Amino acid sequence: MDPRVTFRLFVTIGLAVALIGALWALADGSAGAGPGGLAKADPDPKAAAVTMPAAATSLPSVQLHATIASNPCAQAAVQQALSSGGEDAVVAAFGGGAAFRAAVAAGNAPCVNLSDPNRDWVVVNKARPLSPLTFAPTSFGDPALTVDGAGSLRSDVSQALDRLSAAADAAGVGTIALASGYRSYDTQVQTYSGQVAQYGQAQGDALSARPGHSEHQTGLAADVVSCAGGCGDIDSFGGTAAGAWVAANGWQYGFIVRYVAGQTPITGYDPEPWHLRYVGVPLATAYHDGGYTTLEQFFGLAAAPAYAG
Ligand SMILES: [Zn+2]
Repeated sequence: MDPRVTFRLFVTIGLAVALIGALWALADGSAGAGPGGLAKADPDPKAAAVTMPAAATSLPSVQLHATIASNPCAQAAVQQALSSGGEDAVVAAFGGGAAFRAAVAAGNAPCVNLSDPNRDWVVVNKARPLSPLTFAPTSFGDPALTVDGAGSLRSDVSQALDRLSAAADAAGVGTIALASGYRSYDTQVQTYSGQVAQYGQAQGDALSARPGHSEHQTGLAADVVSCAGGCGDIDSFGGTAAGAWVAANGWQYGFIVRYVAGQTPITGYDPEPWHLRYVGVPLATAYHDGGYTTLEQFFGLAAAPAYAG
C-alpha cells in the first residue's frame, strides 16, 4: 500500500478514536461533575446512572494533501518555470518531487506532458513511442569515462553521470563508465532490423527496442559498466559492487534503474541493472523515497508489457 495512504488511514482512525473518547469524556463529565463542571471529590453512588454516549455516525474527513493546489498548473510559479526554467525548477514550483508525482498521477497536472522527450519526466515504453518518432536531443556531452563506441548523452545527463562515477569511486566501488548512451532513430532502425532479420521478429523484439521506442533515443538513458580494475561488460554489472551501489544510491544523482526484477509485466523488459534512466534529482528522490520500481507506476500510467501491434 502507498505509505501515504496508510498514513492517512491511521490519521483517520486516530481521529475517530479521539472523537469517541471525547464523547465518552463528555458523558462521564455529565454524570460525575458538579455545577460549574467541577468534579465531585466523592460522587454520590446513586447518581452513577451513566448516560451512554451517542455513537459516532460518520468519520471525520481529513484532507492532508491540502498543499497540492486543485490546479497546480494555474500557479504563476509553475507556469514561469515551465516556460523558462529547467525541470528541477518546475518540480520545485509544484512543491517538490512527491507533490509533482502526486499531481501528475492524479491527472491533476495537464501542463506536464509525459510525452515530451525534451523533459526529464518523459516516459518511453512499448506503448509510448517517442513523439516525434525521429526525435533527437539538442545537446550532447561525452562523459569522462566511456567504452569505445558508447556515444553521448544529453549534456546535463553526461555531467550527472560523471558525478555518479566520482561518487561510486569515492565510495570504494570503482568508477562507472558509459557503455551505450544516445542512439539515433536511424541507428535503432539498423539495430532492430538486423536482429529481426537474423532471429525473427519475436526474438528481435526481445533483443532490441523498435525504432522510436527506445529510451536511448532521448539521450537520458545510459547503459553502464563497472571499471574497478578494468571495465567489465553490461551483463556483469548487476553482480558488481558498483552495480549494487548504483541501485542503492543512483537516485542521489538523478538516476533510476529503469528495468528491475519482477516488473517485466509492467515495463515490458527483462531486468537490466546496467540501464540507468536520468529523471533528475528531485524526481529520482521521490521515486526512491516512495519505494517505486517502475516509472509507469510512479506516474500512474498503464503497464506496457508489449507493443500495440
Ligand atoms: Zn539500455
